[in-house]
Amino acid sequence: MNVSSSSLSPEWLQTLRAARPVLWTRSDTPSAHAAAFSLADVQAAQARFTRYAPLLAQLFPELTATQGVIESPLLDASAMQAALELPPTAGRLWIKADHVLPVAGSIKARGGIHEVLEFAERLALEQGLIQPGDDYRKLATPEARACFGRYQVAVGSTGNLGLSIGVIASALGFRAAVHMSADAKAWKKARLRARGVEVVEHEGDYEKAVAAGRRQVEADPHGYFVDDERSASLFLGYAAAALYLRDQIAQADIRVDAEHPLFVYLPCGVGGAPGGIAYGLSLLYGEHVHCFFAEPVQSPCFLLRMMSGEGQLPGLPVPPSVYDIGLNNLTDADGLAVPRASELAYTAVGGTLAGVYTVTDDALHADLARLHDSTGLRIEPSAAAGFSGPGLLLGSPAGQAWLQARGLQPHLSRATHLAWTTGGLFVPAEEYERFLSRGHSLVAGNQAPTDAPPLHHPQ
Ligand SMILES: *Cc1c(COP(=O)(O)O)cnc(C)c1O
Repeated sequence: MNVSSSSLSPEWLQTLRAARPVLWTRSDTPSAHAAAFSLADVQAAQARFTRYAPLLAQLFPELTATQGVIESPLLDASAMQAALELPPTAGRLWIKADHVLPVAGSIKARGGIHEVLEFAERLALEQGLIQPGDDYRKLATPEARACFGRYQVAVGSTGNLGLSIGVIASALGFRAAVHMSADAKAWKKARLRARGVEVVEHEGDYEKAVAAGRRQVEADPHGYFVDDERSASLFLGYAAAALYLRDQIAQADIRVDAEHPLFVYLPCGVGGAPGGIAYGLSLLYGEHVHCFFAEPVQSPCFLLRMMSGEGQLPGLPVPPSVYDIGLNNLTDADGLAVPRASELAYTAVGGTLAGVYTVTDDALHADLARLHDSTGLRIEPSAAAGFSGPGLLLGSPAGQAWLQARGLQPHLSRATHLAWTTGGLFVPAEEYERFLSRGHSLVAGNQAPTDAPPLHHPQ
């Protein structure tokens, strides 16, 4: 594995340009997080999900069992830990299994659904469809749906955000349009069209799709655009995950304090999802949680943003794009194929983030296969990015230096490593088999699948 230290030299930048994996850690001690949002804002997002739960249970049969709660289990990942050859002295590996989030099948269920629910709520209150305190199942009446049907919800996406927005918007009765980048998978487009969502395909990348969506809505007086690059509502929908996770962590008897550090590894595209979650976790756990973002070697946009924030990329525009250093933003991790980071996410978490690392597409497929063989869990390539984190942190000079500087070495055996698996539920079987066989060709000594690990779900 080719990992350089975070002391920056032209050689280091060369490694980044050559699309070899790197671990970058912040050189200063984290500042207090930006007061962009308060705990009350995050709690308000969670409360909004709760108000909508009865309606969601009615609209989506898959939510009957949870009474409308859209959440994922926290899983003991000791079998995957063994497959990754991480010794028990390094702490314990867990998985936050957002790859099974119902309705959207990815982490986008959190932010995307939250934003559409917030828009619908504001509209419904304005139009007198509901009063504060009402049962939101009123929004399923023909009258409410007819009202929503006059509005269009649009979004630009590499795929998963479009799936989430398109599905919830059309379920509520909105017209929905999803602008997809060229790297969006055919099955994601087909799934949306089957639900009556208008899918507009664009030749270019994620940024072009977003710009096109924004333009379309500007021309429509009844249009609402979900802006992945600068939406506070998306961000807070993601942040609300931290509140639920805190209960799961307590339920699993996991301690988080000065002697029990929590390391969280979050796959990152534009930065909204991992940023919101990191923000929420830092509100709850302060300096005891250490979040790392994971990006494809060809799409390290948040890494570049962090570096330029520390003055390490003189001469590049701010915010920098991955094209500016000669990378091509091409990756099989379609959920992470973003050339430039969200300034909203950077402003909110840039001051607290522990570090960012990059992963090759081969490593993503290998970890996808290791996870399948050790635990039976089925994820998409983007969702495997978290699993490189613990090995990089513990096994690279940059990681060792950072642990040393933070005084974390003595506490490692009591540490919790949490890999966030961000998508996969709806990946078609043939597509998954292709990922898996590519992964198997990269992993020596396949293991037989074991029983599913125990679930840790509060309630
Ligand atoms: C979107 C996405 C992410 C990252 O979210 P951003 O808000 O773009 O940073 C991670 N994993 C998957 C599967 C995604 O679809």
